[in-house]
Amino acid sequence: MKLDDELRLVILEKVGIYSKRFSIDEPQVFLTNKEVLAAPKEITEGRRTTAYKYYGVSYLEQNSIFINVKRIPDDKTLENTIVHELIHQRFPYLSHGKRFNKLVRQGLRGTAFDPYQKRKSSKFSC
Ligand SMILES: [Zn+2]
Repeated sequence: MKLDDELRLVILEKVGIYSKRFSIDEPQVFLTNKEVLAAPKEITEGRRTTAYKYYGVSYLEQNSIFINVKRIPDDKTLENTIVHELIHQRFPYLSHGKRFNKLVRQGLRGTAFDPYQKRKSSKFSC
């Protein structure tokens, strides 16, 4: 799809709506490969130069997602990709699979999710 100002707004609005529904903080959204490459390396570490291959990428620790608009063929795939990446944000412990796909389908149908109860990360405990 071709990214213009209008589509940019539409996407950010969708991200806002689904984020609220999934009880997650609205992530920072990259919409072009250029934006991914321009972001600080700490954010996109590990999935920086390969991001262009995917419809979307979640940078979980940094609360950021990449929606690869240029690669996405149509509205339906766009909606799917947005929900897919936001499900990653809401269910960070889940990897791809049946349960993950079920949650994506529920999300697309308008299901709301309670906030994720964050486990204490040993990384930041004193
Ligand atoms: Zn995924």
